[in-house]
Amino acid sequence: MPELPEMETYKRVLVHHFAGKQITDAEVNREKSVNVPVTDFLAAVKGATVTGIERRAKHLVFNLNTGMHLVLHLMLGGWMYIGTDADSPQRTKQVILTFGGTKLFFIGLRLGYLHLLTTGERDRKFADLGPEPFDPAFDLAAFQTQLHGKKGAIKMVLVDQKAIAGIGNCYSDEICFTAGVRPTKKVGELDERARQSLFAAIRPVLTEAIRLGGYMDDPVYAGDTKTGGYNHHLLVYDREHEPCRRCGQPIQRHEIVSRKTFFCPNCQR
Ligand SMILES: [Zn+2]
Repeated sequence: MPELPEMETYKRVLVHHFAGKQITDAEVNREKSVNVPVTDFLAAVKGATVTGIERRAKHLVFNLNTGMHLVLHLMLGGWMYIGTDADSPQRTKQVILTFGGTKLFFIGLRLGYLHLLTTGERDRKFADLGPEPFDPAFDLAAFQTQLHGKKGAIKMVLVDQKAIAGIGNCYSDEICFTAGVRPTKKVGELDERARQSLFAAIRPVLTEAIRLGGYMDDPVYAGDTKTGGYNHHLLVYDREHEPCRRCGQPIQRHEIVSRKTFFCPNCQR
């Protein structure tokens, strides 16, 4: 599932292509991908201009000049492609937004969705989300506050969207590795140094992943060589039995509350 770096990568590409552009046509092929009757959805977006595109947690928000917002969550299996009917992947497109000669295709949007919301609805939807990792107000003290009273494994706090927004299965493991902390470790058993190391790892791990284009496999447009660049730099995630990049020992895989988890048994205590 795409996480903060993947959605941030998408956002930057989408802003470049579509900020300030008018939606000249739209198509919904899967009713359940939107939250209102298809005719209402089409009436609301056709002719509207995208004034900006923002990211909040793992969501992207397309702000329209009508005051409405399109809130996207790709969930598992969802992705986007920018192009034309001719060069787009031969896959079912659940929603298509047309901007003149260029189309934005939403593919694999089965668990994911593109919801048309008012500002109030958007705010209510995001009300429970925790702080953004790059928000200057998210400092060590704010991180400590999120850990306070938590009983489970540290990984479960890192992936909890109410505790910190945008981190999921992959980057929680990458952050734990960078901090030298086992993702299975109970929050209550983390000493002060481990807590500081975890906090200190969050922004560098996410920054590096954004710089490299995240880990999504599929190119976002023809000739896109950036998206998915982090795939070749993963520290521990999805690397079971492969050698640790720091010490060479094989990476182990465990499950925490049915989430797959990867770590180096030697480097992470
Ligand atoms: Zn190691």
